[in-house]
Amino acid sequence: MVKEVYVCGICNFAYKEKALAEKCEDWCNKHKSCSLEITKKSMGALTQQ
Ligand SMILES: [Zn+2]
Repeated sequence: MVKEVYVCGICNFAYKEKALAEKCEDWCNKHKSCSLEITKKSMGALTQQ
């Protein structure tokens, strides 16, 4: 079973919802760091590859 996840291209945190990944990426771009409010909804950092 393949689970589709959305990953923030900057911090590599994976999200179930595309909107969250986009929000994270947007935040990471602007603040050069992650928002705890956003990353706590993440499934965790993508470490593979
Ligand atoms: Zn991010």
